[in-house]
Amino acid sequence: MAKLALFNGPRIRSTPYPMHRTTGKEEKEAVLRVIERGVLSAFEGTNNEYFLGGPEIKALEQEWAYRFRVNYAVAVNSATSGLFAAVGASGVGPGDEVIVTPFTMSGTVAAILGCNAVPVFADVDPDTFNLDPEAVERSITPRTKAILVVHIFGHPAEMEPMLALARRHDLIVIEDAAQAPGALYHGEPAGTIGHMGVFSLNCNKHIQCGEGGIVVTNNEGLAQRLRLIRNHAEAVIASGMNVESLVNMLGFNLRMTELEAAVARCQLKKLQGLLSRRVELADYLTTQLQSIPGVRVPTVRPGCSHVYYRYAISLDPEVIPLSAADMVRALNAEGLDFYVSYVKPLYLQPIFQHEIVFGSRGCPIKCPWYEGKASYARGICPNAERLEEMLVTTEIVRPPQTFADMDQIQEAFLKLVDNIHEFSPVKPEP
Ligand SMILES: *Cc1c(COP(=O)(O)O)cnc(C)c1O
Repeated sequence: MAKLALFNGPRIRSTPYPMHRTTGKEEKEAVLRVIERGVLSAFEGTNNEYFLGGPEIKALEQEWAYRFRVNYAVAVNSATSGLFAAVGASGVGPGDEVIVTPFTMSGTVAAILGCNAVPVFADVDPDTFNLDPEAVERSITPRTKAILVVHIFGHPAEMEPMLALARRHDLIVIEDAAQAPGALYHGEPAGTIGHMGVFSLNCNKHIQCGEGGIVVTNNEGLAQRLRLIRNHAEAVIASGMNVESLVNMLGFNLRMTELEAAVARCQLKKLQGLLSRRVELADYLTTQLQSIPGVRVPTVRPGCSHVYYRYAISLDPEVIPLSAADMVRALNAEGLDFYVSYVKPLYLQPIFQHEIVFGSRGCPIKCPWYEGKASYARGICPNAERLEEMLVTTEIVRPPQTFADMDQIQEAFLKLVDNIHEFSPVKPEP
């Protein structure tokens, strides 16, 4: 077989991947409809009919709730805002702990800190990279108030055991489904299984409106608290809205505009088609890769469907003694687009290492109300830490790519395995 491009051989691919474009004529017409109406947002932060926004927002929420078979959908300006509103609606505050995965986008955990609560990191399952329910159970303390579960890369987390723990310990379960719209867990859509679930409409996600998010719930009280946090709760309550509890009823402006809602409505109609194509490409690639020794294709658990926000490949070091970093250098030299893992475990971020968040005294982690001692030391989540060594991921398993593009990925892996002797041996760990 040919030499690797990394060592001056021919490249497999010479053209960049085309843009991932999900919008078209429908979105253009929808935006024009809003512009012609002239009302770009109808929200008012007061106790009147505009507390719930304008016609596009209301229609989007209704359509989203119908598609995901939930009672309530609340549109916000990002999934990060949605997570913040969901943690807030849970009533979490200073002194409380929220159990979360360290292997997620930073916004998941910022939502916890934003409510003055303390993130407690539990380790991930080495096959799906989702929170391991046993690690969650070991992390529960008398201060635990919620579990924030992420469906990473588009594969549903183990919800059944999470719900069982939540029932036993009286905890709220929030799902971050930003990467998993339409993924199913035993027939139920990811994001609709816990008390609240959050979706993203950011431009990099399966469907998008530039920036946007949706929080779903079946609980009327939580829906109302989410709407209040979205839209100036304290002012709305002052102007006459009755609430059961003032806890966390501080409102912000997390509102989505009519323009984004109009685009999001078109995108929701395209979701199933976009997902099907993604899954078709991923299944094809899996078939192409799974016979290559040492290459581990994504796990799909029985009863689950995967929607492949990222396609993740892990390497068996016994068979392919290459670090993920070397692997990515070699693959990208061939013209592909791979990343080493996804993120470093979030507790290794400076804010956790220095325990400085709000103010200079370390709140909420070193708050006088906090009687626990969450650890952010290297080594607390060994599975998550190992991913940097053995996991490579890519976003290119999606339309407009074709089976021919998937064949190039297979060719690159075959070439790599064939040329493995070209790399200097990996140093044994000290
Ligand atoms: C993208 C993403 C978010 C944040 O979404 P935004 O809409 O960009 O705020 C949160 N969690 C996960 C897992 C994500 O992938």
